[in-house]
Amino acid sequence: MNDKKLYSPKVMKDILDKYGFKFSKGLGQNFLIDGNIINKIADTAELDEKSGVLEIGPGFGTLTQVLCGKAKKVVAIEIDKSLERVHKETLNYDNLKIIYDDFMKIDVNKLIEEEFKGLDVKIVANLPYYITTPIIMKILEEKYKISKIVVMVQKEVAQRLNSVPGSKDYGAITLAVQYRADTEIAMLVPNTVFMPRPKVDSAVIEFNILKAPRITVEDEELLFSVIKASFGQRRKTLLNGLCNNLKLPKEIVKEALENVDIDPGIRGETLGLDQFGRIADELKKHLNL
Ligand code: SAM
Repeated sequence: MNDKKLYSPKVMKDILDKYGFKFSKGLGQNFLIDGNIINKIADTAELDEKSGVLEIGPGFGTLTQVLCGKAKKVVAIEIDKSLERVHKETLNYDNLKIIYDDFMKIDVNKLIEEEFKGLDVKIVANLPYYITTPIIMKILEEKYKISKIVVMVQKEVAQRLNSVPGSKDYGAITLAVQYRADTEIAMLVPNTVFMPRPKVDSAVIEFNILKAPRITVEDEELLFSVIKASFGQRRKTLLNGLCNNLKLPKEIVKEALENVDIDPGIRGETLGLDQFGRIADELKKHLNL
């Protein structure tokens, strides 16, 4: 497969200058310049000739180069069309297709079906930090047929995605992730490996998508409404959080919580996914939703 030498930071800068490229802070453009980190990201994704890779935001394309060298096919989605001229010079790979569009607007299920027939699909990206959470939520909610996600995110976001009940980082998104995937922080990354350097440190987080959701519930939508409601007002009790945010009568919620042996006076952020599942199923019975 393709195996070309990576561009040095100096050559990258010269090529970007040649095409008058200006880094956009608004689009989260911090390009990777460290070959070791780039190779580690690709290694974490465990790519081979049966892999299809969807990359979000190829930027200059250093990570894309390595992905093209290891996977059968890569489809990269880049919002910034001004990079097209750069890509024409740097990303000449037979197994690469670049789509210039906003990832948030793309029908990714359709794309995966059309572009990656018979391949084991993985999402690999150094995500633009301004939109990390919406991108991860889109991937999880739209239930793509993929086996793995390997993404660089802000260190704090990685910690939140990988946290446990009761910790300060634990949030509704942690549970949304746990519902569908096992997570692991593959490595912490200093800001020195980017051009330009972001103010924050980063981490690469790996999601291994479960074959079926971690718990089975009657009504998935209600589960996530219950989770959001419980985290909506962090200092409130679980009972108040659920009543206020779901607009439900206190007696019903209190009874439902007691039926599943959960103290209505505790705070929602101390509960695990299993317990939220039991609450959602019990509320469903009470409300006949
Ligand atoms: N992958 C490159 C690397 O590692 O050097 C660039 C990573 S940079 C952090 C994020 C990239 O995502 C930028 O190229 C940016 O233009 C692109 N981007 C930002 N928002 C996007 C969106 N909504 N859809 C697709 N690409 C986006």
